[in-house]
Amino acid sequence: MAVDVLDDVLDATGGQHRPGQVDMAAWVAQAISDGHHLLCEAGTGIGKSFGYLIPAITSHKRVVIATSTKTLQDQIAADLPRILAVAGVEGHTPRTAIIKGRASYVCPAKAADYDVQLTLGGTSESDIDDRVGVLINWWRDGGDGQRDHAPVEVTNAQWGTISTSGMECPATRCSYKNDCPAMEALDAAREAEIIICNHHLYGADISSEGSVLGAHDAVVFDEAHRLEDALCSSVGITLTPRRVAIFISQANTLLKRIDMDTSQRTSLTSDLWKRAKEFEGWMASNIGNVDLPLHGSWYTSARKLSDTVRAVSDAIVEITKQPGATFELAVIGHGERTLNLAGHLVGDLAVLTSDDGSSNGHVCWIDPGPNLRTSPISISGSFSDRAATVTTICTSATLTVDGSFEPLTRALGYGVEVSDMSEPYEDEEPSDPLRYMSLRVGSPFDYPSQAGLYLPQLPDPSDPGWGDAVADLTNDLVARAGGRALILCTSNAAVARIADKLSEHQQSSLGDGHQILVQGAVPRQKLLDTFRTEATSVLVATMGFWEGVDIVGDACQIVILDRIPFPRPDDPLWQARRQAAADDGYPPFFAVDLPRAANLTAQGAGRLIRTHTDRGLIVLCDSRIRTRSYGRTIINTLPEMPILTTIDEAGAYLDQL
Ligand code: SF4
Repeated sequence: MAVDVLDDVLDATGGQHRPGQVDMAAWVAQAISDGHHLLCEAGTGIGKSFGYLIPAITSHKRVVIATSTKTLQDQIAADLPRILAVAGVEGHTPRTAIIKGRASYVCPAKAADYDVQLTLGGTSESDIDDRVGVLINWWRDGGDGQRDHAPVEVTNAQWGTISTSGMECPATRCSYKNDCPAMEALDAAREAEIIICNHHLYGADISSEGSVLGAHDAVVFDEAHRLEDALCSSVGITLTPRRVAIFISQANTLLKRIDMDTSQRTSLTSDLWKRAKEFEGWMASNIGNVDLPLHGSWYTSARKLSDTVRAVSDAIVEITKQPGATFELAVIGHGERTLNLAGHLVGDLAVLTSDDGSSNGHVCWIDPGPNLRTSPISISGSFSDRAATVTTICTSATLTVDGSFEPLTRALGYGVEVSDMSEPYEDEEPSDPLRYMSLRVGSPFDYPSQAGLYLPQLPDPSDPGWGDAVADLTNDLVARAGGRALILCTSNAAVARIADKLSEHQQSSLGDGHQILVQGAVPRQKLLDTFRTEATSVLVATMGFWEGVDIVGDACQIVILDRIPFPRPDDPLWQARRQAAADDGYPPFFAVDLPRAANLTAQGAGRLIRTHTDRGLIVLCDSRIRTRSYGRTIINTLPEMPILTTIDEAGAYLDQL
């Protein structure tokens, strides 16, 4: 049925019929119907979202679709009505809902606080931010309150004045919950049969044993190559000085609003600052790995901070619960949010200092912020617990490494692969719920004729001359192509070096229309829009641009990757993953570093060809691809295309584009 509906939808919408998409839809439909796990690598251009949305919609089951990015969530939101208009004719039209993180919506409680601030004259006329006011009015006039749909752009700081984090939001205990777009989205999701959410929210659902999304039959993870990291971060703790400072500032303002005696308030908040500074000092002098549970002076400092936060919460509760105490609704909302922040802080500090074994399998470290972070080393335990009762489907353009799903299945805890679910069990437990099937659907693009892979002869990245050699080569290639280059770097230092070199040499040779766009100079979307429209521009960026960038046409004819993006050797989480792999008998480099680097290289290279008519050159400026045995694994993870090894070949290739 899913395949017939896919045909109908494509006919109705003028879409292209692609055999790979039909295969994918048939396999996904079978997996949802039979309740078996499926891993589906679907090359760029297959039309993955129709390949799983239509089977989900026609399944008559409750299915969650979880993406990594909001961009993809919005694309699915745009696709859904087109599909439902056709799929609904076939019978039951399922209710659908899209839910984003709490901070993606206007928070009515914060908006009320903003009103009060204006009324009290807390801001002078010149300080009043028109854009925030416009947003509040837009939402009050019936806008959906989502930042992504806002009529005006706002900075993160402006948005922060009228939105709330998950840590601050008291959710069902909030006095404003009945007017809240975030709660409305959550309620709609709980009622819906097709729910579109993100990986982090799904992680929260796993951690809370299903209390976020409710029971469902199947989940489809798109962009599943990012799933492991998202699930780990949704479980981990992040304790930053800023987080504590936000609590103190909110608590201090609240204590004033509820008329706490000035000397008591000063004493409580100065105690808080003292404990917060003490804890921050400990963090600053202990950058690096930290043992869990915190012990010795760490333990004492964390417990003192926790006790002080708790004392402030208790004082707030005591004042607000006094007989006859009445407060404006905005003050009540302020109190609820402050208590929620306090509860999360106390809870996290309790986990960090608990001696009940909860540290097992987690790594804790202090980054140079200084920020304290924890993460599970592996998510396979909790993921496989969920997969024991819910059908899981993972899809992405890059799920395999050198044709193998093994790195993904090990990370997520799947069982054995079978080619047919009716295969008899052999050595497995008779009821192994983690068996899976897999499908690889190649891209419809003709990579051998649309793209080339240039592997230049350059010094090894460990050579002091490597950075300048890459900048010089980039300069030459950009000049030859007349801009049109996306340069993806693995460090901010490389971005600066290459951008400087291009600015120095390219201005004259490329003329006035040429622009060198550097990540960080302007917001990401603006940068991408300019790169898209100014065909001769060059965009130099780092890791955030290796994925999710979709530039069609002549504006992007070269993608240059400065080096193989291995995880940092000193990153505590990756160190712990390597150790865990070694403990399980796997060679850490091949089990941990290489799969991640190969996957990310494929993602970066995948920015080049986005349509049947795109053509261009991928350049990998890391000689280890040729000199080390693992180079072949990375090349085999990319689509097949001609390999060029000299600058003359590369130049000739660019000339004929
Ligand atoms: S539930 Fe309350 S605090 Fe949370 S987002 Fe809604 S209005 Fe804001």
